[in-house]
Amino acid sequence: MVPESELIMLSALQHYVFCPRQCALIHIEQIWEENGLTAEGRGLHDRAHSESAESRPDCRRIFGMPLRSLELGITGKSDVVMETPEGVFIPLEYKRGKPKVKEMDTVQLCGQALCLEEMTGKPIQEGYIYYFRIRKRLHVLFDQALRDFTIRTISETRAMLEGGKTPLPVYSKRCESCSLNDLCRPELIQKKLDINDYLDRMLSKELSETTLQEGIK
Ligand code: SF4
Repeated sequence: MVPESELIMLSALQHYVFCPRQCALIHIEQIWEENGLTAEGRGLHDRAHSESAESRPDCRRIFGMPLRSLELGITGKSDVVMETPEGVFIPLEYKRGKPKVKEMDTVQLCGQALCLEEMTGKPIQEGYIYYFRIRKRLHVLFDQALRDFTIRTISETRAMLEGGKTPLPVYSKRCESCSLNDLCRPELIQKKLDINDYLDRMLSKELSETTLQEGIK
């Protein structure tokens, strides 16, 4: 069991899958920069996180339910948890954009499901992610592959956060939509690393040539 003080945020899993450096900048260095995309996303979540519930004919909807798993050491809040008349819980998460190639949204939803399983003692088989841009609900099955990936992500994220070291940037397309781009400066750091690498290689080449020439004398 993980002590309360060492629980990691469910949102950190999503950040880690997107980019480990982004996760470290936010959760180790406590840096957060809002951009248009994050502001819009936060607006959607603010509405959903106002802890309340409403009953509909087909289910009860609980908004902003606090979640945690002491076994896995994670905590957070759901946007919505639906409870059917049969007592089945189904998490629903709101996202601004559209489904991602990487599993960053599904890993966060699966983390919620694992918390709900521990809290309710009931299996959680499925959930949904509603994407506002395309106005579609993605059905997510919590199969073994997604559960394994989520548990692996929790352990990698924990190891990085406990190590307290922010990884160096790796520039890629995802950096274009990253809210921390201006603070991270991935291209600049990458260039510096490339220059240092070049200088190191030149230096070791020169040293080995000098050693060779001294050997010939
Ligand atoms: S700018 Fe790129 S490397 Fe830097 S935190 Fe964002 S995604 Fe990661």
